[in-house]
Amino acid sequence: MLYSQVAGQEEIKTSLIKSINNNQVSHCYLFEGPEGVGKFELALIFAQSLLCLNFNKEPCNECKSCIKINSYNHPDLHIINENGNSIKREDIDVLINSIYNKPYEAKRKVYILKDAHLMTPRAANGFLKTLEEPPGDSVMILLTINSNLLLPTIVSRCQEVKFRNVSKETIKLYLKDNDSDCVELAVNYSKGILNKAINMINGNDDTLKKREEVIKIFDRIVNSDSETIYELENYFEDKKDNIDLIIEIMIMWIRDIMFVNNNMENLTINKDCIELLKTHGKKMKTDSDIIEFMQNISDNIKNNVNYKLAIDNMLLKIQEDFK
Ligand SMILES: [Zn+2]
Repeated sequence: MLYSQVAGQEEIKTSLIKSINNNQVSHCYLFEGPEGVGKFELALIFAQSLLCLNFNKEPCNECKSCIKINSYNHPDLHIINENGNSIKREDIDVLINSIYNKPYEAKRKVYILKDAHLMTPRAANGFLKTLEEPPGDSVMILLTINSNLLLPTIVSRCQEVKFRNVSKETIKLYLKDNDSDCVELAVNYSKGILNKAINMINGNDDTLKKREEVIKIFDRIVNSDSETIYELENYFEDKKDNIDLIIEIMIMWIRDIMFVNNNMENLTINKDCIELLKTHGKKMKTDSDIIEFMQNISDNIKNNVNYKLAIDNMLLKIQEDFK
């Protein structure tokens, strides 16, 4: 593996590489950031760098250590909670039993704990003891979506590394050789999470399918009378769990309509639907405040207002502003 295989996170890469070259590797790292930004991938490459026999800026990918890591087969690399279920006391006991032994082949042992916030309280207490006196030849890398979910005593003993969403440009660059025709849509709907974009392209994330569905619903709302709104109530009742995403897709659609109305088609996200955007654009009130209105509806739903009433208001407002 190479550092360039993870999109973005350049500052983190630089500081990890520097820590190896300057012999300032910590005993415990806490990689924190949203799902899908490359925490696990970077933890693996860092582990490989620590175990590589010829490390220099990148793992060499040729030594016996690199070969074993690339085939997930290195006895000094331990991945705990690989399936992301939960970390039980027994899992931590396995770690404790091996961490005080000498490494099998390398100079160090590396432990990656996926979803470290899923440690049970008993597991966390056991782990804390290890953190108090970590053996010099071990490096632990904890991965979490939110460090507030971990015991503060664990967090304070780790070097925190914060991952952020990456820019659209970075994701686009990373996917430049992919010839799927939905790359651009996936980039725009990924919210800076590379794995989400990749899953959309591979069909493992149905956001793009939902987009098509929501555009059809939107078209129906603007082309019908208030009676239809009551027919659509069932649809929205069924989609209660996804309402955030549905409103977000609608807001992106309306934003595109505004771009088209202002001759800025190049800025649209839904580029494959320009004709429909234009049709809707002709119906839109020029002084519409609908985006703000829908944002409020979305916030209100999060704050538990009457769901049905909020949806009715939103649908009526869409009809009013797209006559
Ligand atoms: Zn190597």
